Amino acid sequence: MPSASHARTTSRTHDLTTSRTHDLTTFHPADPYLNVDAGTMSPFEHGEVFVLDDGGEADLDLGNYERFLDLSLSKDNNLTTGKIYSSVIERERKGDYLGKTVQVVPHITDAIQDWIERVAHVPVDGKDGCPDVCVIELGGTVGDIESMPFIEALRQFQFRVGAGNMCVIHVSLVPVIGVVGEEKTKPTQHSVATLRSLGLNPHLLACRSQSPLGDATKEKLALFCHVPAEQVLTMHDVSNIWRVPLVLEEQGAHSTICNILGLKGADRINMSRWKSFLAERWDSLTETVTIAMVGKYTDLSDAYLSINKALQHACLTASRKLKLEWIEAGYLEGEAEASDPEEYESAWSRVRGADGILVPGGFGGRGTEGKILAAKYARENNKPYLGICLGMQIAVIEFARNVMGWENANSAEIDPATPTPVVVFMPEGSKTHLGGTMRLGTRRTILQTVDCIAAKLYQAEQYIDERHRHRYEVNPELVPQLEEGGLRFVGKDETGERMEIVELSGHKYYVAAQFHPEFKSRPFKPSPLFLGLILAAAGKLDKHLSGHATPLV
Ligand code: GLN
Repeated sequence: MPSASHARTTSRTHDLTTSRTHDLTTFHPADPYLNVDAGTMSPFEHGEVFVLDDGGEADLDLGNYERFLDLSLSKDNNLTTGKIYSSVIERERKGDYLGKTVQVVPHITDAIQDWIERVAHVPVDGKDGCPDVCVIELGGTVGDIESMPFIEALRQFQFRVGAGNMCVIHVSLVPVIGVVGEEKTKPTQHSVATLRSLGLNPHLLACRSQSPLGDATKEKLALFCHVPAEQVLTMHDVSNIWRVPLVLEEQGAHSTICNILGLKGADRINMSRWKSFLAERWDSLTETVTIAMVGKYTDLSDAYLSINKALQHACLTASRKLKLEWIEAGYLEGEAEASDPEEYESAWSRVRGADGILVPGGFGGRGTEGKILAAKYARENNKPYLGICLGMQIAVIEFARNVMGWENANSAEIDPATPTPVVVFMPEGSKTHLGGTMRLGTRRTILQTVDCIAAKLYQAEQYIDERHRHRYEVNPELVPQLEEGGLRFVGKDETGERMEIVELSGHKYYVAAQFHPEFKSRPFKPSPLFLGLILAAAGKLDKHLSGHATPLV
């Protein structure tokens, strides 16, 4: 979670006397950037792009909500300044405002409130009927120019929904200064003062800090911020992210929120499985499995957040402690050998020392030769390999070059002039508009055989549904020859023309997919292909697939 001060609002969406069980919809409205969605943003700057079932390309926060709450969100759950302004401008062009002057207040602020109200009524937890609660996360820092229309919209919204139907939680940082370890409350005092001057009074303060806040600090914050002391929550650093809900539960945050929203009985929650299987288990794992992640944005681990999480979920189930080696793909290349021999040696020794290799998705040419070399190493040395999206295209290029002997084989994305394009641009793509024009969202993969690792891991015989995000695909014209050469395309799309999963026989685990299985991985339901990689890397896959293994957990 960002440590900047920002508001989180929870509002009740309908009368509970008519409600079913207390269900939740999450909503993440104000990414105060002008981009319509995160699809065109660099992972370097903003972390990964999280893909939703309906093809929405969202901020990585939506992935956190899906994983924590086991939800499936849609593109409407991610509201950005860009989306709001384009919808208002489109209506203005149609003449919908009947000659009125179109302004931030009321037109933008109304559009934000209407959007929230509409989406808050749509269930996202797979159950029918209107959800009871909508969680709204307003990103950024209070006082930012960009988030002003959203704050004003939420100020008005509290009157739209009425008293007792909106609970405001303000997230803020309490830094500790100097050797004496004094907790500084001033940043919080100021951000709350700013928030209140804008018409929003926080009910709870969620204070990010290194260690639990002292009582005196809580009382001071209560006094200066117009919040009861027991509603000042300490959100101190913990050993793993699954401990965060437990920290909140200990402080009774759930009961306070339920009281404020009049949700009787909804605070009776049982976190025991969460605690034992996730929070405590993660810290108690001892036997290590090392995975080399060969990518290009390795300076910012958020660029591969969902992959990292999917590996963690698989490790929890396989009882292994995850050691992730981030390998900058460029350092595996021959050029690095000449220019930076130390980095080259270190990168290769970490690849060699790993129990498994993962090549994640990516765009553009930089680092691809290094990834191809890593795939070759995995294939030749019987080292478990999982390729995702670009990682599958890499596996195909490597096979074409080194097994088929097609020396200059490449992807048209990497080398448009290649004489042997084994990966080509998909006919339905657009080269002029990059936003939202890829093959996106959930698509079906038809399994071509049950005699493959993927079918066994998914425990499926006919098809699997996973999320996609790509513009290029394996060249269908070359597939028959590649198959003859021994590459197994065990999953294809419904037309049979588009390759979805490739495997190699006679290898411990050499599996690659055109889709992104990481987006659907959940702590209690690890993604099958990630579980396969971890089990293979831990030497436990064969037993697991033969059905003779003791149940994992
Ligand atoms: N760049 C490749 C493509 O567009 C792979 C995309 C990805 O890995 N997400 O097909």
